[in-house]
Amino acid sequence: MKFVSTRNKKLAADFSTAIFTGMPPDGGLYEPAGKISLKEIYSSFDKTTSFQKLSEKAAVKLLAPEIEQEAAFDIVKTAFTFSPAIRKLDESIFLLELFHGPTCAFKDFGAAFLAASSERLLDNGSKRALVLVATSGDTGGAVARAFLNRKGIDVVILYPSHRVSPLQEKQLTTLGGNINALEVKGSFDDCQRMVKEAFLDKEIRSSINLTSANSINPGRLIPQSFYYMYGYLALQEQLSADNANKDFAFCVPSGNFGNLTAGILASEWGLPVSRYIAATNINDVVPAYLKSGIFKPRSSVPTLSNAMDVGNPSNFERLLAIFHNDSNLMSSVIHGETVTDTDTLKTIKEVYEKYGIFIDPHTAVGYRAAQRYLKHTTQKGLRIMILSTAHPGKFTETVFKATGYKPDIPETLKILLNKPKKSTIIDPSTRILKEYILSRFV
Ligand SMILES: *Cc1c(COP(=O)(O)O)cnc(C)c1O
Repeated sequence: MKFVSTRNKKLAADFSTAIFTGMPPDGGLYEPAGKISLKEIYSSFDKTTSFQKLSEKAAVKLLAPEIEQEAAFDIVKTAFTFSPAIRKLDESIFLLELFHGPTCAFKDFGAAFLAASSERLLDNGSKRALVLVATSGDTGGAVARAFLNRKGIDVVILYPSHRVSPLQEKQLTTLGGNINALEVKGSFDDCQRMVKEAFLDKEIRSSINLTSANSINPGRLIPQSFYYMYGYLALQEQLSADNANKDFAFCVPSGNFGNLTAGILASEWGLPVSRYIAATNINDVVPAYLKSGIFKPRSSVPTLSNAMDVGNPSNFERLLAIFHNDSNLMSSVIHGETVTDTDTLKTIKEVYEKYGIFIDPHTAVGYRAAQRYLKHTTQKGLRIMILSTAHPGKFTETVFKATGYKPDIPETLKILLNKPKKSTIIDPSTRILKEYILSRFV
């Protein structure tokens, strides 16, 4: 697979270059180039196919000939020690649970694949790289865990001070080793801007092998498409023959839109899914675009689903490129819904009362959007699979507020609560970030 810049199709890169540079030198984003079909892989899927097996096949096909089959197998095996799970709520609503990885959120999938690929492509430590990443919540935790003690790699994570949950902060700041946390006195958009500017800085670029692990990195994007394939194909296998092949949609709680973009890619490569619901909180610049055709980024506003508090989604440029800058074309595939905090709380309560399960506030945004869509659609028998992006135990306060009960915190995360926080507080200035990087890692 080759990648090209969203701003210039002639600016091409192979997988290795794309994951280590994170983005092309013209400030665009890498997107897969050319026609790719995975239809053969999709049609060979059956009841016995595991997520890992499907991922192996897809990775081999997508990364050939640059990455040999053995290496691709190895990357998948190292990365995916966990799997997605499908949970049926009723005849029309299913959850694709993506929180069974080490940090209990979907970002584990992309981070694990990227970390395994990076280590392998650095020849297990004979070359060095610095991972620089901005997080609005869960990215940093997943990246930190995935890259912890990987040979040849240092990690610097920027996060907005007081804008992530205490547990999320612990995930970023307690690992030590090759993981460094920068606490930025600003918003997530500040963090993201600083990272973007550092990547464009000639002095940094020439002195260090800088790599991004946030959702603009194609090494995270590609593996996220694997669970869409698995979710759709495994559900079709579970349904009886006369029941399968009804209309189907994925509903994706979205912030930076990396997750949704990965689904669109799976469809571009032949997965027969043509409907996606983009569910956002009130940071809804994309749903607004889908209605008006006008994209107006703005400052983000804090909400209960804080991993989706993004005012200028970085993957939007990729979506635009995929849909040829045509808002009508995009809105024929993607339907946008905005969900308020009030509705998020109501939804957590409703789902608890109806099905006896806790869902986290991000999944709740998805559930509410899916409900609304079902209510208004004329598609008979439509099934919606909602991507359940985080474990409810990561958001105990919100779930408590909604239901009066506190879900258990997963054991892997509980351990972190007693560990001491280690972070460096900095102003939201790219100059200061640059000094920090050049003084420590060159
Ligand atoms: C990051 C995140 C999202 C949003 O994903 P994007 O790819 O940024 O759209 C949704 N839910 C949770 C729990 C997250 O951590």
